[in-house]
Amino acid sequence: MRDKAPKKKIAIFGSTGSIGTQALEVIRANDKLFEVDILTAQNNDELLIKQALEFNPNAVVIGDERRYEKVKSALSSTDIKVFAGADALVEVADFDSYDMMLAGIVGFAGLKPTLKAVEKGKAIGLANKETLVVAGDLIMKTAIENRAPIIPVDSEHSAIFQCLVGEGRNPIEKVILTASGGPFLGKKPNFLTNVKRVHALEHPNWSMGAKISIDSATLINKGLEMIEAKWLFNLEPDQIQVVVHPQSIIHSMVQFKDGSIKAQMGLPDMKLPIQYALSFPKRIENNFPRLDFRKYPSLTFEEPDVKTFRSLALAIDALYKGGNMPCVLNAANEIAVWAFLRNHIGFLDISAVVEKTIENLPFIKNPTLEEYFESDGEARNFAASVMKL
Ligand code: NAD
Ligand code: MG
Repeated sequence: MRDKAPKKKIAIFGSTGSIGTQALEVIRANDKLFEVDILTAQNNDELLIKQALEFNPNAVVIGDERRYEKVKSALSSTDIKVFAGADALVEVADFDSYDMMLAGIVGFAGLKPTLKAVEKGKAIGLANKETLVVAGDLIMKTAIENRAPIIPVDSEHSAIFQCLVGEGRNPIEKVILTASGGPFLGKKPNFLTNVKRVHALEHPNWSMGAKISIDSATLINKGLEMIEAKWLFNLEPDQIQVVVHPQSIIHSMVQFKDGSIKAQMGLPDMKLPIQYALSFPKRIENNFPRLDFRKYPSLTFEEPDVKTFRSLALAIDALYKGGNMPCVLNAANEIAVWAFLRNHIGFLDISAVVEKTIENLPFIKNPTLEEYFESDGEARNFAASVMKL
C-alpha cells in the first residue's frame, strides 16, 4: 500500500544558516515526506532567493528591510509572499499554513517568533538554544498550555531525547552532556590571550555558524546547553553533568535511577538530529556516513577546565541562580562575541565582559516576558559600555 500521508509543512527560520541549509538538504532528500512552507533569512538575500525558487514556499521573510525590493522583484514571477523586518518573523510564525517550525535563527532574535509558534501549538524543532536560555520557564509553560511539542535539534539534547524514547516516566538520575572541548582544548590563558577569530572559528569536529563556533571555543556553549537541558527535560541543576569527550562520538547520555546509562552515538553530523526532529517519532533511511567503531579504538573523557574557560563557570552560576541571570549572561555573551568577531576585544575579554555584566545587573527572580526584554537590553548596553563600543 502506498503511503498517502500528507507532507509535513516546515517553516525554516534562519534558512540560510548552518542549521537552515542542512535542514533543506534533509528536506530535499525526503521530498515525499516534507515540504517547505516558510523560509527566513537576515541578510543573505541571494541565498534566500535561490532557496525560494527551488522549494517554492508559501512565504519568505528577509530580516534586513533594505533588501526587500531585491527579494520581491526576484520572486515576482512566483506567488511566494515576501515580507521584511523583525516584526514579519512573528507575523509569519502566526500563520496556520505550516505544521512545524525549525527554529534555526541564532541568538535572542529567535525568541519572539519561536514563542509565537509555541503559542499557536505548533511543533518546534529547536536549534535556537538561546530561546530556552533566556526564557525557558515561559517557553515550557506556554508549550504545555498549548500542547506544542518541542523536539531538540541541538545534538546533545537530541541524544538525550532519543535515550528517553520508550522510558515513559522512568526517573532520571542525571544527564551527562558531552563536550568536544572545542579548538582550544588543553590550552591555558597565556596561549588564549593571543588567539584570534580565525583560530577560534576552527572547530575540530563540527562546522557551524560563527557565533556558536566562538561559544564552543569559550565553552559557554556547554553552559548554555546545561540551561537548555534543565528546561527541556525538567531537571535540577545538579542533575546535569558535563564531560569533555574530544571525539564527539557519544552525543550525550542519560543515567536512570537504577544506575543504568544510555548513550546515543554516531559520527558528528547535524543532519542526523535535524532529520530526527523532522521525522520524529519515525526514523527515516539516509546515506549519511556510518560510524565504524574499529576506527575509534579509544573514546576518552575528562573534566572540563572551568578555571581557564571561565565562561562555562559563569554559565553554571547562572543556571543555579536562575531568574533573569541566564538572560543577562546570554545578552552580554552575544555582544562580546560580536565584538570579538570584529577584533574589538581579545578572546579572554569575552568572559571578562560577561562577568562584569552579570555582577552589575539587578537580579529578578521571576521575570515577565517584558522584564526579559528589559534585562536583555540593559545587559547589551552595559556590556557595550564595558567594551567602550
Ligand atoms: P548561522 O549563523 O549559520 O545562521 C543563523 C541564521 O539566522 C541565518 O539564516 C541568519 O540569516 C539568521 N539570523 C541571524 N541573525 C538574525 C536576526 N537578528 N534576526 C533574524 N534572523 C537572523 O547559525 P547556526 O550555526 O545555523 O545556528 C543557529 C542556531 O542553532 C543557534 O542558536 C545555534 O546555537 C544552534 N545550533 C547550531 C548548531 C550548528 O551545528 N550550526 C548546532 C547546535 C545548535
Ligand atoms: Mg550542541
